[in-house]
Order: sequence, then C-alpha cells, then structure tokens
Amino acid sequence: MPDPDFAPEQLEKEAPSAKRPAEQQGPRSRVATAVKTSGYEGGSAKLSPDSWKPPAPGKDAVGELEEFLKKRPSPQEVGRLLAAVQVPLDEPAPKALLVPHAGYAYSGPVAASAYARLLRGGANLSRVVLIGPSHHASFHGLALPDTEAFETPLGTMPVDAEAIALIPGVRRSEAIHRAEHSLEVQVPFLQRVAPHAALVPLVVGQAAGFQVADILELLWGGPETAIVVSSDLSHYLPYRLGRAVDEETSRMILRLETSLDGERACGAVPVAGFLEAARRRRLRATLLDLRSSGDIAGSPEEVVGYGAFAFFETRDETP
Ligand SMILES: [Zn+2]
Repeated sequence: MPDPDFAPEQLEKEAPSAKRPAEQQGPRSRVATAVKTSGYEGGSAKLSPDSWKPPAPGKDAVGELEEFLKKRPSPQEVGRLLAAVQVPLDEPAPKALLVPHAGYAYSGPVAASAYARLLRGGANLSRVVLIGPSHHASFHGLALPDTEAFETPLGTMPVDAEAIALIPGVRRSEAIHRAEHSLEVQVPFLQRVAPHAALVPLVVGQAAGFQVADILELLWGGPETAIVVSSDLSHYLPYRLGRAVDEETSRMILRLETSLDGERACGAVPVAGFLEAARRRRLRATLLDLRSSGDIAGSPEEVVGYGAFAFFETRDETP
C-alpha cells in the first residue's frame, strides 16, 4: 500500500540556472535490468567543479555516459585516497558519516578523511544506509532504485532487500536514480571500507526532516549498520566568503541544528533529516576536514565547499 506522504511521481528537469547543476562533474550511471553501473569522473583537467551537466532529454545520453564511465575511479585511486588519511588509534568507529560528492579530483581527499574512519571496523558492517539529495528530479519523499546491485570498477555492491522490506512506503524509481550521482559516487569508497555490506540507497526529494529521520530510525540497527549522508556545502561563492559560510554551516552541523537550507548545502534536506535523527539518538559530531574546490583543483572565484564529518554513538559514554 502506498505511503500517503508520497505524492505521485513527478519527474521534472530543473530549470536551467547558473546556481544549479552544482558541483557535479561526477558520475553517470547506466541502469541495466538488475545492476546499476556506477561511474565516477576521476579528475580530467578540462572539468571544473560545476562543469558537468546532465544530458538534455533525447540527446545522446548513452554516448555521454560512456565518456564518463571511462573515467571511473580505479581501485588503486580509492586505496590511495584512503591510505593518505591518518586515523587516531583510539578513535571509536563512527555510526555515521557526512561526505561530499564531487569528482574524486575535487572532493575525493575530503571524502576519504571520513571513509578512512570505517577502515578498522568496516568489515563487520552488513548494512550501509546511504542518503543524498536529488539534483535533477523533482519529487516528493524518498526513492529507492529498482535494481539489485550497484556495479563499479571495484565490483558489485548488493542492494539490501531485507532493509528495503522495513520501509515499504518508499517508492522504487529507476528514473530518479538514473539521473542522480550523489549516491553512486560514494559506492567505490563503501566497497573498499565495508566489503561485506549491502546498500540501502535513498535519494531524498522534497521531504520534511522528520520524514527522513523516521526512515533512518527504522533502519538504524546496531553496530552492523552505518549511515552515510552525501552533500556538498556552499556553491559558487568567492573563496573567502565560501569558507566563512562553510565554517558557519559546520558549526551548525556540529550542534546538530536542523535548520540548514539549500544555500548552505545542496543536500540540505537529507542532512537536516539525518541531523534530526542524530539529535534523537544523541550522536556526537566531529569535523574531520573542511575545504573547497579552491583549495584543491578549482578556480578561487567560484568555489564549492566540501566538509567531512563523523558522528558517534554516545550512550555508552560516562556522563
Ligand atoms: Zn550536490
């Protein structure tokens, strides 16, 4: 029975806007009958933090896909990014991560600073709940793909059918997932740090924070389950202003404030929803890295902010 919170699917291309297709010079996906092929741009010099645009309807989407698929990250690249991160030996395993989703040449090192936190205990993870915003499709609620697995150069990561049975009101939409990169860009990292985990990939459309938080609650689980939230921070501000805005946003995230808007993070809805769940569960947040495309590989005139955060369970800590 359909969840009354979810309106009929309305797939709309976003109106062209200088402020939109955002940071994605990233991955494209090809959805086969049962396997979603994850692509990821590995750092072509001609690409900028906002140079990637989705193909127009009816255009040669397959040709563009092939181009991007050729630039998928290699296992070596993922390993190199993770190996560059030093994690304190006494740090506990995080329950959740918030990571950016631009091309690996831009935000890969920032994302790696979070994923490296899962390296020690990740082999024990059986489930990763992955949420990110919809950049191209406008719809109400959240969406799962209609595939059984995500495929990348690192292999195949199964979609968690058991977990999906826990959230029966969530729609399955191939179209929404086919257009979206914010989740699949995370998959190669997850395959490396959580090799035995199955994925619960949720694209978040128009939704209230509590709706996202309620679904995360259903999937919360124990130490076998981790949550990953995919979002970049500010978009297309000059370097210094972008930094100031992102620092303020970071402080809000560390305080688990749920009032973020789309100016602060393209994934404001999933981030705010996650932060609401984190509040309910009294998670403790730490900032791992905060940079922008201007620090890494882009022009300082218009930068995209990238933050990495880890969230830890606190119930076992002595007050
Ligand atoms: Zn984004």
